[in-house]
Amino acid sequence: MKICVYLGASMGEDPLYAKAAEQLGTMIARTGNELVYGGSRVGLMGILAESVLRAGGAVTGVEPQFFIDSCVQHEGLTKLIATKDMAERKQTMIALSDAFIAFPGGTGTLEEISEVISLNALGRIQKPYVFYNLNHYYDPLFAMFDRMQEQGFVTRENRSRIRQAQDLDGIRAALGIA
Ligand code: AMP
Repeated sequence: MKICVYLGASMGEDPLYAKAAEQLGTMIARTGNELVYGGSRVGLMGILAESVLRAGGAVTGVEPQFFIDSCVQHEGLTKLIATKDMAERKQTMIALSDAFIAFPGGTGTLEEISEVISLNALGRIQKPYVFYNLNHYYDPLFAMFDRMQEQGFVTRENRSRIRQAQDLDGIRAALGIA
């Protein structure tokens, strides 16, 4: 399976994020899956890609040309795909991948996973996704999803599709990784 991970381009305050990104990458490779991600070598993105490669896994990076022009791309990837802009990057990552993980990150991560949620809700794709709710990072967002349902902006069915996992076993269960 090609697993797309969205995650912070920075490291986050707590060293726990880097450690968990490394463990996630190792798990993806050791279970015989491939990583699709944003292609950068900075922050948690770089840690994740390194850990997959170190464990013998394949990594595809999908990077807009303007990031490549400013040299933030990881040079050792199995494959690097250049896109013309961020919109094409998101589309390419979604088309290439079989499943999605939102690791802790910022607005970029939120934007990317939101598109996956919406496309699933609209029936345009049917691909599993899960939030990695490490250390309750995403609790406030899940409170917001509940509020969206309560207030009639998200159906019960679509709300129930937005799932979270607290650890790697939960991620594997949510995405069907053996
Ligand atoms: P953020 O969560 O705001 O740190 O943004 C991370 C997400 O946005 C990643 O999954 C990337 O796809 C994209 N992104 C944001 N900043 C960068 C960067 N400097 N290099 C590569 N991708 C980035």
